[in-house]
Amino acid sequence: MTSTDRRAAIFLDRDGTLMRDAHYVGRAEQVVLIPGAAAALRAVNEARVPAILVTNQSGIGRGYFTEQDYERVHARLSQLLAAEGAHLDAAYHCPHAPADQCECRKPGTLLFRRAAEEHALDPARSWSLGDRGRDLQALIALGGRGLLVPSDNTPAAEVDAAQASQQLMPNLGEAVRVALTAMLAQGAPAE
Ligand SMILES: [Mg+2]
Ligand SMILES: [Zn+2]
Repeated sequence: MTSTDRRAAIFLDRDGTLMRDAHYVGRAEQVVLIPGAAAALRAVNEARVPAILVTNQSGIGRGYFTEQDYERVHARLSQLLAAEGAHLDAAYHCPHAPADQCECRKPGTLLFRRAAEEHALDPARSWSLGDRGRDLQALIALGGRGLLVPSDNTPAAEVDAAQASQQLMPNLGEAVRVALTAMLAQGAPAE
């Protein structure tokens, strides 16, 4: 498969990007969408660009909650998004703790590479949106681009770095608009 057969995608972080980061969310009742996030995702859906969730869930590796808890939280997130007419095309999570030194925890690239293989995506024409620098770095390492949408948990240094490199966005809706506009300008096939 050549790169032109592959599609551009938008990769999205979960905690602090689509939903509030309640510090290791292990229960479905804790899921609260960030205002505007569902509408931003819906815009990705309407552009027929694959929306891929990639999330670090070290709460599993740390023993704070289980894989089954994660699946319940994900089901609740999907339900809340669907209520606003939005959906994720795929979701990948790293269950490891930092000490495990895995390749999938962002900024590790394994989950992005796996998504690219499983969904015929071209990382180099894709964008990653998140509230931490590592969300962007993972895809940038594969030749893609990234935009930072800060949350309360974003270190000031990461905000400053994003501003300096013109990767700082005020909200997810604006980040999606910038990414989709750039994709269209590149002539990315709609599907
Ligand atoms: Mg986050
Ligand atoms: Zn991992």
